[in-house]
This record gives sequence, structure tokens and C-alpha cells, in this order.
Amino acid sequence: MSGQPAKLPARDFEEIRLAEALERGRCPVCDARQESAFAALRGLAREGATDRGLRAEMDRGLGFCQPHSVGLSKMELLQTSSQLATAVLLDAVLRRRLGALKKLFGADAAAQGRGLADLADPRCPVCARVSEASRTAVDRLLALSDDPAWSAALGAGELCLSDLCVLWAAAAAGPKDLQARWSGILAAQLARLEALQKTLAEYAHNSTMDRRRLITKEQQEAGAASIRLFGGSPDRDRTR
Ligand SMILES: [Zn+2]
Ligand SMILES: [Zn+2]
Repeated sequence: MSGQPAKLPARDFEEIRLAEALERGRCPVCDARQESAFAALRGLAREGATDRGLRAEMDRGLGFCQPHSVGLSKMELLQTSSQLATAVLLDAVLRRRLGALKKLFGADAAAQGRGLADLADPRCPVCARVSEASRTAVDRLLALSDDPAWSAALGAGELCLSDLCVLWAAAAAGPKDLQARWSGILAAQLARLEALQKTLAEYAHNSTMDRRRLITKEQQEAGAASIRLFGGSPDRDRTR
């Protein structure tokens, strides 16, 4: 959407990744989350089945959420063309869950309700890594916003709506100088969203059969940008 920000100063690998995401027009927090999910799934697909510590954790109730159960099997398939490690890990989870479900089956209704509420949290280790990465990225971006180049890039960058609000909340809970710097970034983001909304409305207006030929490239791009705004902007190409 916006012009290319100037090359951002970065001191370490983490900052280089955040800078690259912004420079490529992606949400840096989504990017950090995706990177950490990939790293966690890669590790699990390679060593999870033989990792004793992990197996012990599974005996204590660790499991996988729905997307990461699928993610694990896909990652393993990609790496080894098999899904054996996934089967070993899911067997360990299922054994534990089955034990819990059988116990609940014989319990009274109130205990069933409590037990099922407990089971609703899969205690997914990939989700834990992803939220940790998200928190780290947010903290790092708040600190980096002290630099004028980063501040400008954060004002113009394609932050997704959800992470924009997370960053906003973290800045609002911070010290006065951080709040002041973020108020400038947020003003720029709100102007970006207002421009996007206007172009999106024009796109929607031109969506009827008789007006479709009037759709401009900019309006089409606004359609794609609005999906990234609400859906986040993972990097489709990152499968390494
Ligand atoms: Zn995001
Ligand atoms: Zn998960």
C-alpha cells in the first residue's frame, strides 16, 4: 500500500526479521508468530517422538490444538515424507486424553462439566511458543519505535488490525514517553486505515456487473489489503 520505508537500522537477527517484514509489507507480529510456529513444528517433527522431556510433559497433559495437530503432520510430511513422528506424539496425547475421558464418564454431572472445561485447553506447546514470540515481537517493536526510521515504518506499515490493537494496548500501559511516541504512530495508522476504507468502499461500489470495468488496480489492491488487515499477513512462501 504505502511506499517503501527507508532501510531500517537493525542490530540483531530478531530486528532484521521485524525490519524485513515491514519492508515487505507484512505485519511484523504475524510474521514473528508464523516463524516461531514453523520453528516449533520443525523441531517436533524432527525430534518430538524421541524427546523424553516432551513425552513426560504429554503424560502430564500436554497436547496439540487443532491447527497445530494438522500443522505438525504437514510439517513432518514435508520434511520426511512420512507421518510417523506425528502418530507417535498423537498416540501419547490420545492415551492420556482417553484416560481422562473414561474417568469423567463415571463421574457426576458437575465433575463432568469441570473436567470438560479443563480439557478444552489442549495445552499446546506450539501455541505457547507462538504467544511467547508474539510478546517478544511486541516488546521489541515498542522499544524500536524510539528510532525515527522505525517509528515512520510502524506508522506506514501493514500492521494487521488485531496486532495494531495489541501494540496499542501495550503502549498505553507503558511509560509516558512511549505513549507519546505511539500516539504519532497510531495517528498515521488511523490515516492509513481511513484511506484503505475509502478505496475499499469504491471497490465495493464498482463490484456490480455493470460497473466492474471501472475497477482500478488501486481498488483491487485495497481488497487484498483489507483481507490482510483482518486475516493477518503470514508469508505464504515460508515453508523452510
Ligand atoms: Zn499481525
Ligand atoms: Zn497450538
